[in-house]
Amino acid sequence: MTRAISLHDVSKSYMRGTRVVDGLSLDIAPGEFLVLLGPSGCGKSTVLRMIAGLEDIDAGELLLDGECANDWQPAGRDIAMVFQNFALYPSMTSRDNIGFPLRIEDPGADPAPRVTATARMLGVEDLLDRYPSQLSGGERQRIAMGRAIARHPSAFLMDEPLSNLDAKLRNRLRAEISQLTRELGITTVYVTHDQAEAMSLGDRVAVLRGGVLQQVGTPREVYALPRNVFVAAFIGIPRINLLQGVVRAPLDGAMTISLGKQALRLPEPLCQDHRLLRVQQGREVIVGLRSEVVRIADRDAARPSEALITGLVEHVEFQGHEVLVHFTTGSRPAVVPELEAPRPAARPPRRLRRQGQPGMLDRLRERAGSRRAGPVGGPVAGPVVVMEQPPQDATAEAESARSGVRLPGDLVVRTTPDVRLYHGMQVPLLVDLQRLFVFDRHGDRICPSPDRLPDLDE
Ligand code: ADP
Repeated sequence: MTRAISLHDVSKSYMRGTRVVDGLSLDIAPGEFLVLLGPSGCGKSTVLRMIAGLEDIDAGELLLDGECANDWQPAGRDIAMVFQNFALYPSMTSRDNIGFPLRIEDPGADPAPRVTATARMLGVEDLLDRYPSQLSGGERQRIAMGRAIARHPSAFLMDEPLSNLDAKLRNRLRAEISQLTRELGITTVYVTHDQAEAMSLGDRVAVLRGGVLQQVGTPREVYALPRNVFVAAFIGIPRINLLQGVVRAPLDGAMTISLGKQALRLPEPLCQDHRLLRVQQGREVIVGLRSEVVRIADRDAARPSEALITGLVEHVEFQGHEVLVHFTTGSRPAVVPELEAPRPAARPPRRLRRQGQPGMLDRLRERAGSRRAGPVGGPVAGPVVVMEQPPQDATAEAESARSGVRLPGDLVVRTTPDVRLYHGMQVPLLVDLQRLFVFDRHGDRICPSPDRLPDLDE
């Protein structure tokens, strides 16, 4: 049997403090794999522990298969949990660790057949007589999974089960978890702060920020139509480019979004989504450009939906199958405070570190830097607000200001490895305006229109 799990307007505070989970509503279908994703401390584990019955619910309702389960004992919920730290008994063999919950549930029954079947499923038959100290991290986590699976629970709750493992093992076990839970068809709620893990595992992903649900949708939906700037920035590698802009909508001219010294000219005739931007005339907005919506190409190659800007090459990151190019365009990046930095700061090029002499590149950087990056955010549970000055210690921008090292570039573009670029080169960039995101100063998406339902096959 597999369970439907619903949370209706659920809230939780610890010690009469602020709410760590605030009005959370989620419906998880039987057999679904739902990932709770968000930065550390946003309340993911608390949600999981409330579903397991390890934490009381202050307000709202937890429904298991439609029945209010707020007051059910943990043991009566028929739910198995897998933790980050494996939680195996050190004095028991793998066999006894897997069989332990079965013996508790039914002391009269022989756990051996289920233990053997589970071990076969997980490929750990030859580890059954070993103690946890004789197992590698990955093996321990398999045994911990085995202990959860052998119970034949109606739901799995997994709290960052892979985060203590190295990257290679994490990828392998990720694939195994995905295959196993699908084969078993058991509802799974999986907590992680790793967006790549969330995107690869989840049927749906629920993004939390400060205890508040930001968006829930399939991995494609949350990537292609993020509801707000936080979701846009949290999901996707490299992180989306977020630039401060101003909408210019003259009655007698083309509509543009100015990005500092450059501007994106919206193609005529305006599409429905761009027409709706007209009411933002004169207002500050945040422009979101994923690294794949900008390409390096001449004006002659521009499609009708593309606008031309120019960028100075700051740094080239070779990734093997692709290259990430960091450009300075003279625009002002927006910063989302909980996400430590707009993107990791690359080291300034050696030549500049040595010379320290102002050139054209420095002057362009100076212009961008003088209109400092404005963080996006505010009270975590409330609306997102664009502020002009970053909190002193909240961002890498502040850090870089203190250390005297400026962030190189304000725009990252993904391109193929065959493109030859060098530092200081001025390059034409074509921006696909059909795939542009615009967020208002509170961080809510206004383009594509917030009413646009995910219809991603168009
Ligand atoms: P996450 O799993 O997203 O990292 P948690 O749910 O563990 O976040 O914690 C959410 C917030 O609640 C954090 O600020 C954390 O410090 C706080 N918290 C968690 N458990 C307790 C507790 N038992 N007592 C007091 N505060 C707690």
